[in-house]
Amino acid sequence: MSKKHHSPRTNLNPATIAAQGLGWIDAETGAVVPPIHNATTYARDESYELIGGRSYARPNNPTLEQPEILLAALEGGEAAALFASGMASAVTLFQALSPGDHVVAPRSMYWGLRDWLTGEGRRWGLAVDLVDTTVLEAVASAVQPGRTRLIWIETPANPDWGVTDIAGVAAIAKRAGARLAVDNTVPTPVLTKPLALGADIVMHSATKYLNGHTDLLAGALVTARQDELWQRILAVRGSGGAVLGAFEAWLLLRGMRTLFVRVRHASSSALTIARHFDGHAKLVEVLYPGLERHPGHAVAQRQMDGGYGAMLSLRVKGGAEGALKVAARCQLWVRATSLGGTESLLEHRASVEGPSSPVQKDLLRLSVGLEDTGDLIEDMEQALRAV
Ligand code: PLP
Repeated sequence: MSKKHHSPRTNLNPATIAAQGLGWIDAETGAVVPPIHNATTYARDESYELIGGRSYARPNNPTLEQPEILLAALEGGEAAALFASGMASAVTLFQALSPGDHVVAPRSMYWGLRDWLTGEGRRWGLAVDLVDTTVLEAVASAVQPGRTRLIWIETPANPDWGVTDIAGVAAIAKRAGARLAVDNTVPTPVLTKPLALGADIVMHSATKYLNGHTDLLAGALVTARQDELWQRILAVRGSGGAVLGAFEAWLLLRGMRTLFVRVRHASSSALTIARHFDGHAKLVEVLYPGLERHPGHAVAQRQMDGGYGAMLSLRVKGGAEGALKVAARCQLWVRATSLGGTESLLEHRASVEGPSSPVQKDLLRLSVGLEDTGDLIEDMEQALRAV
C-alpha cells in the first residue's frame, strides 16, 4: 500500500500508536483502514523486474506489513513477523536453530509448546532441558556455554503464574553466548517489554490479547536486531509456509487498535477478583502475581508496568471433584480453553492436559475478560457456594 503518516510526531506513546494502527493513511484513497491484499502473485514489467518489489505471497504479503511494523513498535523491536498461529511462530524459531543445539525452557509453561519441545523438538535433534526458570540459579546451572543457543521463558507462566526475572535470565544468556526468547502472550507489551530488559526475541500467541476477540489464530515473533538468526527465521517461515493469511492479518491489526484499553481493563479487573477471593473459605489458594503473597510478586512489580495481567488461577478445596463442581455451576464464566478474549473463560487444566499433567488437580485457570467485575465475582461466589 502506498501510504503516508497521519501525524508527523515520532515520540508518541505506544497506546496512541496502537489506537491509530500506526497512523497510516492510504495515499491513493485517503482510507484510514488498509485494504486486504488477496493476490498470491505479483507481476513483472517488460524488463522482467518486479513492479512492486514483491513476487509471491508466501514469503511476502503486503497486508502483513502494517500489523508487523505496529507490533515491532509496541515491543520496541527492529522487526516483527506474523505466523499462522502462536505455535507456528515458536516452532519456526526452534527450527531456525540447528540439530544438536541445546535449549533451556521452563518446566511450567504453555503445555502445547512443552510437549512439542520434548517430543518433536528432541526428535528433530534439539537437546532440551526443562528447569524452574523462576530460580535464576537453576537457569545458570542448566546453561552449557558454547552449546546452549536459546533460553526460552514465559512470564507470568501458565498456569500458576510463576514470574521469571527477564533481566536476570538475559544476563545469564549473554554470559553463555545464548539468545533469550520470551513468550509475552500473557502480559503483552502493555505490561511488559522483554526487549528493553535484555531479551533478544519476543513471541506471541496473537490468538490471545493482541487480537482479543477469540476469532482468529495467529502468532508473532519480534526481534531486537535484524541479525543472522532473524534472517533464518524469515527463511524458515517463507519456505515452510507457516505464514498468516491476509484476512487474519487485517483482523489482527483491527484487534491491536484496542489492545491498551482491553488489557488495562481486564488486568485491573483480575486484580480486584484476585483480592476478593484471596483467603476465601472455599479455596486453598489464589495464584496471581499481583497478590503480595505470590512468590513472584517482587519481580513482577519490578518488571511489569501498569498491572499484573488478566490471568489467575483458583485452587478449590475438595480436589478435582471440588474444582469440577465449581466449573459446572458457573453461569457467566465460560468453560473453555484459551485466553485473552472479551469473554471470561474458566478451565480445569488437569482435565485438558491429561494424566501426565504436572498441574494441581484442584486448579481452575481463569482468563478475565471485559465483563463487569461485580458480575464475574458474583457468578464465582454462587458457584463456590456449591462445594
Ligand atoms: N503461548 C501461550 C502462553 C499460550 O497460551 C498459547 C496458546 O494457548 C500458545 C503459546 C500457543 O498459541 P496458539 O494457540 O496461537 O498456537
